[in-house]
Parts: sequence; structure tokens; C-alpha cells
Amino acid sequence: MATIRPSALLKDSSVNVSISDNSCIGDGKTKIYGFPNQHAKIKDKQLRCNPLRLEASKDSIRLTPKQENHKPNVEKADHGGDQFSKMKERFLTFKKERYLEYFDHYSSLAKAQAPKFMVIACADSRVCPSYILGFQPGDAFMIRNVGNLVPPFQNGPTETNAALEFSVNTLEVENIMVIGHSCCGGIQALMSMEEEVRSSSFIKNWVSNAKDARLSTKTVAANLSFDQQCKYCEKESINRSLLNLISYPWIEERVRKRVLSIHGGYYDFVNCTFEKWTLDYHSTSPKSEGYNHTLKNREFWS
Ligand SMILES: [Zn+2]
Repeated sequence: MATIRPSALLKDSSVNVSISDNSCIGDGKTKIYGFPNQHAKIKDKQLRCNPLRLEASKDSIRLTPKQENHKPNVEKADHGGDQFSKMKERFLTFKKERYLEYFDHYSSLAKAQAPKFMVIACADSRVCPSYILGFQPGDAFMIRNVGNLVPPFQNGPTETNAALEFSVNTLEVENIMVIGHSCCGGIQALMSMEEEVRSSSFIKNWVSNAKDARLSTKTVAANLSFDQQCKYCEKESINRSLLNLISYPWIEERVRKRVLSIHGGYYDFVNCTFEKWTLDYHSTSPKSEGYNHTLKNREFWS
């Protein structure tokens, strides 16, 4: 056990992970079921997405440099073109090789879901948890946001804590895992912010949910370069999010009863390694000590 700092993690374990090509994507029409017996009340409910017109913020900031030489064909993009032909091919391959091959499993998923994991990961296109960790359909309720952040309870409703509420209170997941990653543009945006500056940027306002992580990084890692500070903050923000999870009364209650565990994960896609750890809620008392919570079960997969 150690204090909850994003210091170097132990390299005490290695595992092989399977790779699959499944993602958890809602289309606004898909029914999201709870357990078939315990939560029949939600069986016919739907989580709908109203058609919203999205507008870019006037002072939006660049998150990640686009790949060079990537010049989309506008005409093809408008009409689908090669990208959708390949997408169709992938879908039909999935249907043939996965859906029809494991038809009984997918039939049961059509009636109910009982995922063991709630995953909060970054929206970055390079870090799909289902792909790198092999989550199959039905394994993980998932939300992805800029910077894989969990806002504090007192900050009010967001899509992230709405997903947490459903997965914890209705699906009764046993694990919540916050997964961060290397070269995170959201964290770079966070670390680039001025102190407490209100902005019309959706991104800046969102990542300010992790302002405590930025402040502690600026304090602890003041002598490091900006890139090194960002790397430090990538893990610091994960641990802050783990503590923010405890600020939700219905999460804290289930953790206290030992029916829910909270984990951190860090995917380094430069070196292709994965670190995971668990918040040791019960090792620290009282909970009001907050940041002094400890970590346990650290593993380094390479
Ligand atoms: Zn990111």
C-alpha cells in the first residue's frame, strides 16, 4: 500500500490480454436493460438521445495533432464512400464471426445486461478499452469523455455521473475503473489553463473538473518540464477521479459495504503497457481525510 500518488508503479505482474473488436456504442434507440428479474421495471425504458445541433466553441483548442497526410475526401465523406464500405464490411464480419457464432450469448444480451464493470475512459480515438482490454458486449458499461474525468459530486449532473448512477444503482456493477492514458490531450488542455479562468470553451470548462489534479501537479512536479508535468497529471487526475467517485453517496455506501470496488488504470500506448491499481477505501479512516486514501493491488502489464 502507498499513498495515492501517481508515482512509479510496481512492475510485479505481467499478463496476456486478448484483443477483440467490440465496442459499446449506443445509438439512441437501443434499449438498455437491467437484470431481468431484479430490474424488470426498466425493461421497456429507453435512454434516448434527442437530436441536438452541435456547435463548435469559439475558442476551442486543439487536443491532439491530426495525422499528417490525412486529407479527407469531402465528397466521399458526405456520401459515405470507402469509409462506410469498410465499416459495412467490418459489421458483416462481426455478424458472421461473432454474433452468429455466439448467437445464444447475444440472444441473452437482447433481454438483459449484467456487466461487472463500469468503465470511464478518454474519448481519444487511440485508447478504446474494449479493443485493448478485450471487453466483450455485456462486459462493461462504459462512458468516454475528454480526459477520463469523474467530476466531484457537488459539481452537479453530467453525462458521466448519469452513467455512473445507472450502472451503480440499477445494474449494480461490482467494479468502477477509471482508465487514463499517455499523451492525453485533455490533460494537456487542463495543464495549459490559467488559474480559475472562465471560458466559453466547452473543453476548458469540462477539464476544469480536474483542477485539483492540476494544482497538486503544479506543486509536486513544479521542477519538471511541461510534458513531464502532463505525464504526472495523467495519473494524478485518475487518482483524483477515484476519490471523486467516493464523493457520490450511493457509490461510497456500496464501497463501504464491500460490494463495489474502485480501480485506476493507465494505458501507455507509446510503449504498450498497462498499469492498474485499486483504491484501498478501508485502509484509511476517517474518510474525511480524503486524499490520504491508499492504493493496493498494483500491477504492471507489459
Ligand atoms: Zn485523453
